[in-house]
Amino acid sequence: MAALEVVQVRALSDNYIYLLHDASNGATAVVDPAEAGPVLDELERRNWTLTHILNTHHHDDHIGGNGELRAKYDIEHVGFSGDAHRIPNMHVQVKDGDTYDFAGHVAQVFETPGHTSGHIAFWFEADGALFCGDTLFALGCGRLFEGTAEEMWASLSKLKVLPPETQVYCAHEYTQSNARFALSVDGTNAELQARSDEIDRARAADKPTVPSSLAIELATNPFLRADDATLAANVGLAGADPIAVFTEVRTRKDNF
Ligand code: ZN
Ligand code: FE
Repeated sequence: MAALEVVQVRALSDNYIYLLHDASNGATAVVDPAEAGPVLDELERRNWTLTHILNTHHHDDHIGGNGELRAKYDIEHVGFSGDAHRIPNMHVQVKDGDTYDFAGHVAQVFETPGHTSGHIAFWFEADGALFCGDTLFALGCGRLFEGTAEEMWASLSKLKVLPPETQVYCAHEYTQSNARFALSVDGTNAELQARSDEIDRARAADKPTVPSSLAIELATNPFLRADDATLAANVGLAGADPIAVFTEVRTRKDNF
């Protein structure tokens, strides 16, 4: 078993698809293929054969390429058991607390509802990599389409406790607009100010701001900081419980 190689593929307007590859056995997984085209191009460029599809949730910009990729390759397709009705024909169905073995790389599966009622994240502990779909973004979190603030805070709380050096591979490049919002609720946070400047430089050069480390998210992402006293005070909720603060921050973001 070799180290897990992670390749970021841009898709649609702001999606990131990930290819996971183990050079010792040739296994190659795709996480959330928004569309097949860019995945096929990258596979061809690297001369890799796709062997697995991992889905975090049912949205079309995460499963849109499943059908075409499955038609072309002999693939093991894995996703959340609770989404079997809307992620068709999965071979392997997983749920919270399960592990999933991708070619010797073991991922822990977390159910992380909030953005959608069914959503999972894959944490490859030994490789220090978290694939969290639309739950945790760089400086943000997913919109609450099917879940509640309470559910999303509980989901984020599962991710908060992972090792700080974990690399967070989220599914969208939303970071620059997230940074503007974050500054509006946490403007005195020096680490956030510095990160925001870095993000502006990266985006001006058309560079990705993803992945990030969990450590920098813990220090700067307002949605992970709903239990921070300064942030609570900044949104007029000093001393309130984290769910109330999270709800307020999420509502402000929706209207930002
Ligand atoms: Zn989504
Ligand atoms: Fe998405």
